Amino acid sequence: MGILDIASRAKVRAGSEIAKVRANSAKTAAGDAQVAVSVLQRRVDKLALINLALWSLVSEKCGLSEDDLKERVAQIDALDGNADGKLNTGTVPCPKCGRPIAARVATCQFCGAERPQITAFDDVI
Ligand SMILES: [Zn+2]
Repeated sequence: MGILDIASRAKVRAGSEIAKVRANSAKTAAGDAQVAVSVLQRRVDKLALINLALWSLVSEKCGLSEDDLKERVAQIDALDGNADGKLNTGTVPCPKCGRPIAARVATCQFCGAERPQITAFDDVI
């Protein structure tokens, strides 16, 4: 066995060890992601339950119908200028320069204008 064979085998072994470390790291990251998804799913389930309970109370106490609720949902959906069945958690156009402002920042990174607030919930959703 020549020196090149020894070096080649050592390189293969080192590569195999690196692959094992990477596989274990990926396994840990996947496990962490599963836990995070599970936590989020429980939160979403609980929020859905609370929303249903609140709607039940509001409709019963205020005499509102399912159509009233659907109409309000459509109105709120359209507040961000995009009636797409979901809240806009992405960008909004800057009121001053028109460039996009990310949902998680307070001011436009291009001109410094304040991000327009659409609802009181903008900072939490
Ligand atoms: Zn701007």
